Amino acid sequence: MNDCLFCRIARHDIPSKIEYEDDRVVAFHDIGPKAPTHLLIIPKKHLATLNEIGEADRDLLGHLILKASELARRLGHGEKGYRLVANCQADAGQSVFHVHFHLLGGRRFTWPPG
Ligand code: AMP
Ligand code: ZN
Repeated sequence: MNDCLFCRIARHDIPSKIEYEDDRVVAFHDIGPKAPTHLLIIPKKHLATLNEIGEADRDLLGHLILKASELARRLGHGEKGYRLVANCQADAGQSVFHVHFHLLGGRRFTWPPG
């Protein structure tokens, strides 16, 4: 068993505010929200960074993005907009080494990010 933080959240070993879950992905609220909506959407499968994604993960990642889109619309961000972000490795700001997408919405974002 993997003891990485997000694997433990996916197994419900560590409590989190889960917004959506199925057999392949979990979406839960970020502990330090940077916007009125700030969810983290993760595959249940442990992949440390986007560098580890392979052909075998094609359906999984497609499924994850489909669910992110559904969640964004369900939470009311479809019209005005939202951001779906994945940081890969330290220079991009990745701090938890289990692939996750940030779903941010409910305010206006600037571009480019810092
Ligand atoms: P990143 O910096 O892209 O790796 O994003 C990691 C995110 O995980 C940060 O936004 C943290 O606030 C968030 N985070 C860390 N620990 C927890 C936790 N126990 N529950 C929910 N979110 C967490
Ligand atoms: Zn993990």
